[in-house]
Amino acid sequence: CGIVGYVGPQSALDVVTAGLKRLEYRGYDSAGVAVQADGGLATAKRAGKLVNLEKELSERPLPTGTTGIGHTRWATHGGPTDANAHPHMDNAGRVAVVHNGIIENFAALREELTERGHELASETDTEVVAHLLAEEYSACADLAEAMRLVCRRLEGAFTLVAVHADEPDVVVGARRNSPLVAGVGQGESFLASDVAAFIAHTREAIELGQDQVVELRRDAVTVTDFDGAPADVREYHVDWDA
Ligand code: GLU
Repeated sequence: CGIVGYVGPQSALDVVTAGLKRLEYRGYDSAGVAVQADGGLATAKRAGKLVNLEKELSERPLPTGTTGIGHTRWATHGGPTDANAHPHMDNAGRVAVVHNGIIENFAALREELTERGHELASETDTEVVAHLLAEEYSACADLAEAMRLVCRRLEGAFTLVAVHADEPDVVVGARRNSPLVAGVGQGESFLASDVAAFIAHTREAIELGQDQVVELRRDAVTVTDFDGAPADVREYHVDWDA
């Protein structure tokens, strides 16, 4: 239901959890985060309100990292359990993805992945995306390209945001029939389902268009369509009071 991504000099966990709080009013049943740290990904996720996630994080703190993603879930496929909460990962734990919306063709993709030896750990429609991203990434070693290739195979409505352990300081997002906005800061960049998540940090925003993929770095926000063609982006100033 809510998505936040961050790349910059600050603690990604702090920025992402504060952003998720700003999106709490939308309602949700679970929450989770992933940060890049120590050459890998560290994740935490819990059913229930953000306080459950915060309790988990205080009991089992994540290593500090400056690139991360977060999610509040409104369950559509699979009940509101810890296992179904996002982020979802591939079997090697190298890619983490969060998702708003519904992947209509997830059952066929799940069957295909299972046949290729993947083990799926949740009942969500989302998890197939993590496994597909891992497969594409192992062939192209470029997370934005992997996202474009995966998105071309997906049906339905989705905002997707992902990180890969092998691509430090990069967050990649994609959207179809579901909102996604980038925030452009000074040496830091943001992604969110709603600008409310990052206007405490920057008011310079880029609204993603239909069927676009965005690659977020500390000082660059690059947008293409699902075929990799550069997209025209319109940066605007968010001038409403938060
Ligand atoms: N369909 C996904 C799920 O049930 C995402 C739901 C959402 O938009 O939060 O996990």
